[in-house]
Amino acid sequence: VIHVKDLHKSFGSLEVLKGVSLNAKKGDVVAIIGGSGSGKSTMLRCINFLETPSSGQIVIDGEEVMMNADGSPASRRQIERIRTRLAMVFQQFNLWTHRTLLENVIEVPVHVLKVPRGEAIKRARELLDRVGLSDKEDTFPAFMSGGQQQRAAIARALAVDPNVMLFDEPTSALDPELVGEVLTVIRDLAAEGRTMLLVTHEMKFAREVANHVVYLFEGRIEEQGPPAEVFGNPQSERLKQFLSSVT
Ligand code: ATP
Ligand code: MG
Repeated sequence: VIHVKDLHKSFGSLEVLKGVSLNAKKGDVVAIIGGSGSGKSTMLRCINFLETPSSGQIVIDGEEVMMNADGSPASRRQIERIRTRLAMVFQQFNLWTHRTLLENVIEVPVHVLKVPRGEAIKRARELLDRVGLSDKEDTFPAFMSGGQQQRAAIARALAVDPNVMLFDEPTSALDPELVGEVLTVIRDLAAEGRTMLLVTHEMKFAREVANHVVYLFEGRIEEQGPPAEVFGNPQSERLKQFLSSVT
């Protein structure tokens, strides 16, 4: 479903992505690991066109994203269409603070995808139930714990029924005791065959849920492979060092 080829991204003179290629098939869970500043978030943001790539090719669901010579999307409409098939969950939950939880979840289905309100509400309630937040639908985000807010953000992402979910360190803003509840939700999504790209610092979790692991170092993929190999038998010195520094 996702095919990224030779992706480059610079911010001014700082070259952050130096030719990254990545493929994910339906049902793949790709974990992206790497040190701070290695370009993990930038890569996810480019795939979603929250950030304009400098060059490269991105194909989503067999559809190539048309880019201008400067990497900017050639068609706003195409980007909007593709975005409805991708859903991103951020480190900082990014819920709308002035809306209740239920309103947060139905916002995009109702206003962007034009799903009838009653239907969107029914679906939202199912999703809130799935993430264990049935009793919170009228609550505002400020009155929820970090773990609850992140589970809400996942419910909201699921509300568009995305083909691919992008997670950028979904647990790193959470207190340790709240990490588990969010990982449980993500683990269930993986088990159900959702395609996901997941940036994470939780190596144990990556090893358990991912079927492919990509190690980024200074904007390049230094090593990649099945978790058993990447974690169990790392080849590159940098990856060995990285793994010993995080575990
Ligand atoms: P972390 O683990 O800390 O989240 P990361 O691997 O996600 O790190 P990125 O956020 O992708 O790293 O950042 C890679 C580099 O790009 C960093 O040096 C960062 O300062 C730079 N960078 C990111 N976004 C911008 C921006 N909008 N403008 C300028 N530089 C940026
Ligand atoms: Mg990041």
